[in-house]
Amino acid sequence: MATKQKEKKPLHLAKMNIKKGDTVLIIAGKDRGKEGMVSRALPQVNKVIVEGLNVVKKHIRPQGQTRQGGIIEKAMPLNVSNVMLKCPECGEPTRVAHDRRPMGEDKKVRVVRVCKKCQKVIADRAKE
Ligand SMILES: [Zn+2]
Repeated sequence: MATKQKEKKPLHLAKMNIKKGDTVLIIAGKDRGKEGMVSRALPQVNKVIVEGLNVVKKHIRPQGQTRQGGIIEKAMPLNVSNVMLKCPECGEPTRVAHDRRPMGEDKKVRVVRVCKKCQKVIADRAKE
């Protein structure tokens, strides 16, 4: 019996410390010093899209009746090395450590992200 093959996952999927919903500080590039919320994480390419930052203006040609022409602003992906996670607990830009801690109602030990500055758990804001 033939079974439908599942989509193959990339072998070396880089694990990023920054996830969707995190607040990050841009540390390089034209938006250096600005903060924003990660609207999309792209672990395959080690990049994140930060809402309203690293924006480019795109000129769009009208296409028939369906699309209007004009200029739209589009947030381009930023390399994760150019952003720093801002800790929601202490408000400081920080690097991320990993730790095993009992989490949730069942107190099951899970690997969590931990702020290197205040040692508190950085919760995931959004499920992807
Ligand atoms: Zn912290």
